Amino acid sequence: MTDPVRLDLSRRAVLGAAGLTAGAGALGALSDDAAGAPGLQGRLPREVDVVVVGAGISGLVAARDVRRGGRSVLVVEARDRVGGRVLNHRLTTKGATIEAGGAFIGPTQGHIARLARELDVPTFLEHTEGNSVYVSQTTGRLEYSGTVPPDPTILPDAALLLQQIDSYAAEIAVDAPWTHPRAREWDTLSLRDWIRGTAVLNPEGVANLIECWTQPGFGADPRELSFLFVLWYVACSGDERTVGTFSRNSDTAGGAQERRFVGGSQLIPLRLARRLGDAVALDAAVRRVEQRDGRVRVHTSRGVVSARRVVVAAPPPRVLGIDFSPGLPDRRRALLRHLHMGRLMKCDAVYPTPFWRADGLNGFGLSDTGAARAVFDNCPRDGEPGVLLAFVGGDTWREFGRLSRDRRRRAVLEGFAEMFGPRALRPVEYTEHDWTEERWTGGGPTAIHRPDGSLVRFGPAVRRPFGRVHWAGTETSTYWSGYMDGAVRAGERAALEVLDLLR
Ligand SMILES: Cc1cc2nc3c(=O)[nH]c(=O)nc-3n(C[C@H](O)[C@H](O)[C@H](O)COP(=O)(O)OP(=O)(O)OC[C@H]3O[C@@H](n4cnc5c(N)ncnc54)[C@H](O)[C@@H]3O)c2cc1C
Repeated sequence: MTDPVRLDLSRRAVLGAAGLTAGAGALGALSDDAAGAPGLQGRLPREVDVVVVGAGISGLVAARDVRRGGRSVLVVEARDRVGGRVLNHRLTTKGATIEAGGAFIGPTQGHIARLARELDVPTFLEHTEGNSVYVSQTTGRLEYSGTVPPDPTILPDAALLLQQIDSYAAEIAVDAPWTHPRAREWDTLSLRDWIRGTAVLNPEGVANLIECWTQPGFGADPRELSFLFVLWYVACSGDERTVGTFSRNSDTAGGAQERRFVGGSQLIPLRLARRLGDAVALDAAVRRVEQRDGRVRVHTSRGVVSARRVVVAAPPPRVLGIDFSPGLPDRRRALLRHLHMGRLMKCDAVYPTPFWRADGLNGFGLSDTGAARAVFDNCPRDGEPGVLLAFVGGDTWREFGRLSRDRRRRAVLEGFAEMFGPRALRPVEYTEHDWTEERWTGGGPTAIHRPDGSLVRFGPAVRRPFGRVHWAGTETSTYWSGYMDGAVRAGERAALEVLDLLR
């Protein structure tokens, strides 16, 4: 029997796979670190040992390790900045920094934690003091302590479901989820249909609550997610010594949302890029990768570079935009076609102070309707200015993401006001960032498998090199896939792969 206290679909779940914060334009105002990482100007080198495609955390880590291994490397990045899905945004109010993309880290994410220490980027604990707020059509507005939304119509089913998810996830091999005896069945079953078939009292109610986890966590709704993929994602929420659990994925204290980075998570790729210096070329979109005569020619918008090995660390669906010669193997192409970026935006409202804290609230809120389904306290470490963050993902994105900015702003603020009172209607600043509009990312926070059997059929190709081309990026990780930690792990693994072959 599940301990109901561990059922935190609330704060945790929501925090789950999202980061905090929103930003505005492409670059926003970056920290001073940005000035230190202009990258390679002028002509690209004609030859290097390894070309890395993509200057997100994964590509930069791969490049760092290749260089440490004594090989020459060049990272080619399509954008005019580094960091990919990790992006700082500087607020006008007090010049505070928040994140538009990945933000949180937590226990068992040792690879990103180690990297941050190496780069002198400290962390701070996410604010959790005070009550959370739950708004639902059945219960109305409730304040509650602990982590469980106190909705008696949902709790019994939630307890049952989460216990079941943890126990199935414990059976999944993180490096080969397709080998589970029920893999085929689960990969054509949606999370929603599994909930409908398993919940006893209130399947619709519990599915609705679970959306508060899947919308920020996957940028998708339960009907869009393969049940096998969800089980694997939970299984990945641990490390080699610690089995993955739902609560570690979704919790704040003790979970993936436990901490944030002082100065914003983008300091990590910015500092990595600064160390790599001329080994990073911005505005160099890769258009074609040609393997012949024992080398790989990488055609970019800034010229052609010849390499002995290539590491591709771009989001999976973006890889389809690259022309490979010879063409990608059928299985890999099919895998890429069946991976879809989630739909997610972050909307932040800024206040002179975190007024909710003075009211005894911790800034965390869940709602079963409206634009603000999953809300977090997103203040910087010193608590000022006050920032509330809403994740607008999946079907909530479909409903509100396409409205005008003004109408969406109003809907988000009304959601905040339902939770924290009318002061929430009068922010001094509002900012939002829609990842579906980012050409070189295409959505977020990660790429998902739909319930179409594709994880079983094509998943085995995920890390398989294609000639001299190797694959990195968070989606190729075996732990914390979809997260910054997974990005680091994948970069490290890909670097080892190529170094081994270059010996
Ligand atoms: C809103 C949001 C919230 C998130 N919250 C969290 C969180 O709280 N905690 C957490 O751990 N993770 C979070 N994540 C996920 C995390 O940000 C990602 O898992 C991680 O940053 C992925 O890193 P990556 O290097 O694998 O890929 P990316 O960061 O996507 O980097 C890939 C790079 O490849 C480049 N590229 C693409 N195509 C080409 C091409 N043809 N040529 C050259 N370059 C190309 C891109 O421009 C990009 O820079 C969040 C993500 C989003 C969007």
